[in-house]
Amino acid sequence: MVVFLLNGGLIMKYMELTAVKRFELKEGPVPSVGSDEVRIRVLRVGVCGSDMHAYEGTHPFVHPPMVLGHEVAGVLDVVGSGVRGLAKGDLVTIEPNLVCGECYNCRTGRYNICEKLRVIGCVGYNGGQAEYLVVPAEKVFKLPVNWTLDKAVLVEPMAVGVHAVRQAHFYPGMGVVIIGAGMIGQATLQAALATGAGTVMVSDPVENRLNLARKVGATALVNPSRDDVYHKLGDVFGQRGPDVVFDCVGNEKTLDTAINLARKGTRVIMVGVPFGKIPVNMAFIQDREIELIGTLMYTEVDYRTTIQYLSDGRMKAEGLVTHHYPLEKVDEAFQTALNLSLGSLKVLLDIAEQ
Ligand SMILES: [Zn+2]
Ligand SMILES: [Zn+2]
Repeated sequence: MVVFLLNGGLIMKYMELTAVKRFELKEGPVPSVGSDEVRIRVLRVGVCGSDMHAYEGTHPFVHPPMVLGHEVAGVLDVVGSGVRGLAKGDLVTIEPNLVCGECYNCRTGRYNICEKLRVIGCVGYNGGQAEYLVVPAEKVFKLPVNWTLDKAVLVEPMAVGVHAVRQAHFYPGMGVVIIGAGMIGQATLQAALATGAGTVMVSDPVENRLNLARKVGATALVNPSRDDVYHKLGDVFGQRGPDVVFDCVGNEKTLDTAINLARKGTRVIMVGVPFGKIPVNMAFIQDREIELIGTLMYTEVDYRTTIQYLSDGRMKAEGLVTHHYPLEKVDEAFQTALNLSLGSLKVLLDIAEQ
């Protein structure tokens, strides 16, 4: 709901993470729009793993006070005078990384690791847990009109998987292990399959996540609370072993498992967000020529690929969004996202209807 002030300005509601585990619903002016910017009327915002880390005080780089929300679906409400190719009413999502354009990585196409990286809804720029969000027009992607809002909000997390697969120097037929079948594990799985993966083994202790992985085409499933992962690895990959292992969790135990599952020469990709320093078995990394590779977010090419895959059916949105909450119930939404026994995968905040 938007209220007109006497001076003609608009105020909006937004949710601020004011301290660890403390959200406050606030009201403030609707931000004005510069000539190269657009204003989005936000309709859906995803709750991401990194949001939950920030909420719990365990994110290495995202800290309150902050308006969270970098997984955004909405419609354009105001388009700056200098913007071409976008119009009021367009269904859009945002690529939330804001970069300097001048550092070495920006100049060589890897702006996702800009030296001065800011991230809408995470670092240095308030996000989409608000009725309106103003962003640079170049960070906006117009989506097909027939897309659902659930699908639109999934572009960001799915693009994380697409980029992770690109970081793995992926080639068709690759043998893949994915540790963790939460949203990012599912995104990595679908990206690997879309890119022509051969055998894909997915490991997760939560049964409904494994079932969804099976539905989209995982070849083998392991539940480490029940199965012997190493025994299963031998059954699935034989002597050759996997070519790449994605750690989509990012803790000491999962990274250790990833390195132990690797054969000599396997790539291990860290997709999850580890909290600070974790021990690594460097003797294996050295002796086995294991390549340990980090991956962060995505660039425009990953977004375009993701939108293409979601359009042509190589990636599927079905089954990924499990819960919806109104913005006012943000605490409940985060509790649901944190409690794995509730079967949550992607939890959305519904800010408004189309
Ligand atoms: Zn995210
Ligand atoms: Zn830069």
